[in-house]
Amino acid sequence: MSPSRGGSEAYIVFGAPRISESAIAEVVDSLRSGWIGTGPKVARFEEMLAEYLGVKHAVAVNSCTAALHLSLVAHGLGPGDEVITTPMTFPATINSILHCGATPVLVDCARDTRIIEPTAIERAITRRTRAIVPVHLAGQPCDMDAIERIAARHGLILIDDAAHALEAAWKGRKIGTVGNASCFSFYVTKNITTGEGGLVATDDDGVARRVRAYSLHGLSHGAWQRYSAKGPVAYDVTVPGYKYNMTDVQAAIGIHQLPFVAEWLSRRAAIWARYDAAFESLPVGKPNPPPAHSVHARHLYSLTVDEEKCGIGRDAFRQGLHERGIGSGVHYTGVHLHTYYRERFGWKPADFPNATWLSERTVSLPLSPHLTKAEVERVIAAVRDVVPAGAKAAGATA
Ligand SMILES: *Cc1c(COP(=O)(O)O)cnc(C)c1O
Repeated sequence: MSPSRGGSEAYIVFGAPRISESAIAEVVDSLRSGWIGTGPKVARFEEMLAEYLGVKHAVAVNSCTAALHLSLVAHGLGPGDEVITTPMTFPATINSILHCGATPVLVDCARDTRIIEPTAIERAITRRTRAIVPVHLAGQPCDMDAIERIAARHGLILIDDAAHALEAAWKGRKIGTVGNASCFSFYVTKNITTGEGGLVATDDDGVARRVRAYSLHGLSHGAWQRYSAKGPVAYDVTVPGYKYNMTDVQAAIGIHQLPFVAEWLSRRAAIWARYDAAFESLPVGKPNPPPAHSVHARHLYSLTVDEEKCGIGRDAFRQGLHERGIGSGVHYTGVHLHTYYRERFGWKPADFPNATWLSERTVSLPLSPHLTKAEVERVIAAVRDVVPAGAKAAGATA
């Protein structure tokens, strides 16, 4: 809940979505039609996404976690297989690897870009390695040429966690078109949302067919295909699948989010540039500028707040923002620092020094494209206010 504020200024919630009147009307249309499950609107949303990304198959599911899980399952990943990924991600990345029975192998991220380093991936490859799952953290695409070459050289499957990276591209190649399968999220805070939702993008017919079947119990035909055709069609079960299908009520929202994707990206890029300029003289760490040949999806604007330089720790900094009516986020506390994985795999903070360093210092500021100019200035004023004056002077002369 938003705390009550002294003045008339509303609390700036981190990652608030915007739902257009057209999306609301589309949801109402689904409700009135009586077809609220998986149906024509999911099919339409999938077509729109396949065209936007430039992929042959876009299979909508109910989360990116499901998309990751099904992508791994559809490639036959299971017990005994090692999957290389980064600790600087949301637990969903690791959980999907565990759910298919495989073993996650973490390699540290770079401290400046925060994303996985291709050379570190190569060093972690063993005889059991079967797949690589890079994460395009904050919308910064990983070096997909280098990672693709490593995958090809070692015969590995490449599935990327593109939850933050719907708009991203690496050297002119759209994220979603590189590798064996790409997984996107339409969770509330993501660049576009369906409330909950996810997507597997792939050019592989077999993978698309398996993901679709696995997303609905392993049935050969979904309900929509079974009843909307000329007559009832019997289904057959060929694999024990899951219940991961997206519904038309969710797709109804997405159909009216995707058309805004470019406009919202350019608005986030403008806020990003304003933050960069405003924090120039502050002793906080700014996001690494993306390579000129890439498209950064601008999902998260994350600072690093180092107590030695800033005179305030990250958690106190967040508290200071909160008291000034500004929500913030932590992306992320490295997965190697969470109890379950620590106890199961024996990971220690020192095993992934960059991820540990970032975990203690990272803080993401509001970057919603719906922030007004005045709200962006309020965020900036709050950040300036929270960093102690002495540190500010030191930063200005540094
Ligand atoms: C949000 C997110 C996920 C999970 O997405 P859901 O759609 O909520 O399952 C996975 N990976 C990353 C990096 C995320 O940010």
